[in-house]
Amino acid sequence: MSFLSKIVPGYRPFHYVGEKIACNLCCSREKSVLSTRDRWLNPLTNVICTHCGLIRVDPMPTDAELERYYTDHYRLHYQSTLEPTPKSISRGTKGARSRLAYLSTMIKPGGRVLDIGAGGGEFLAEAKRLGFEVEGVEPSVGFARYAERTYGVQVRVAPLMKIDFGGRKFDLIHSFHVFEHLRDPMASMKLVHSLLVPGGFFYIAVPDMAEKRTPTGMFHFAHVHGFTFETLRMMAAKAGFEWMPNTSRGAAIVLKRAEAPDPNWFLFPDHARKLEQKFRASSLTKHLLSGDPYRRAWLRLKRKIAERKLTKTG
Ligand SMILES: [Zn+2]
Repeated sequence: MSFLSKIVPGYRPFHYVGEKIACNLCCSREKSVLSTRDRWLNPLTNVICTHCGLIRVDPMPTDAELERYYTDHYRLHYQSTLEPTPKSISRGTKGARSRLAYLSTMIKPGGRVLDIGAGGGEFLAEAKRLGFEVEGVEPSVGFARYAERTYGVQVRVAPLMKIDFGGRKFDLIHSFHVFEHLRDPMASMKLVHSLLVPGGFFYIAVPDMAEKRTPTGMFHFAHVHGFTFETLRMMAAKAGFEWMPNTSRGAAIVLKRAEAPDPNWFLFPDHARKLEQKFRASSLTKHLLSGDPYRRAWLRLKRKIAERKLTKTG
């Protein structure tokens, strides 16, 4: 086991008890196991709801367990820092610009924009530059303070559900790779709905589980829910959103606040079966026999040795 932790950087089992929950989207308890390992081969069970196709970590970690995970493990797994890196800033700015190129034309000039999971503040900075009134929410103190200091934007550090917005409504709410981290994305989706002006827009992007790389490549302890275009759309319809086809791509979609939830939200009855089939089509054995994981581990080890040599000689 210690050998594994040397060659697989994220190999560090996290022990938790969790709780058995029903599907967050359709409330069914019917499920089927998709994987018992995460992307670094740590034990982690992910199941698919056989009714709607939403994927979740099972058992679902509690809030306290997730908090412990983020404190002890998250930084290590993401090889991240307490503040944004030049690479993440440049990538974040580029993404923000391309999304704002069309999102900014959909709302009124000077409108109010909220970024959920603001990170280092790149999206807020770009929206502010375009004349919008901006604010953000971000769980990491380091990132939030960096955004405030660097761009002069307000970013609050608190769980989304606990923030008092003082009755303020937004014209656009943006959320990039956040909802997969939430234990109750349905409740957050409804909250977003309540925070938008009538006809306001919600941009949401999550990792697309239908585009899996390897059998375990998409699984990660912090990603407690796994979405696809179909499950995201069904959740949005159930929460009272209309889908904007022209500005949506895969599991990155633009939604418009509708007046009421769609009673016919169960739009893709075949989805669960098809998605499960897709996962079954590739097995861990096939992946391990492909040689790819070993090649990557070997390259990583070589890089580490080279870095160590440099440090010693330097
Ligand atoms: Zn379901």
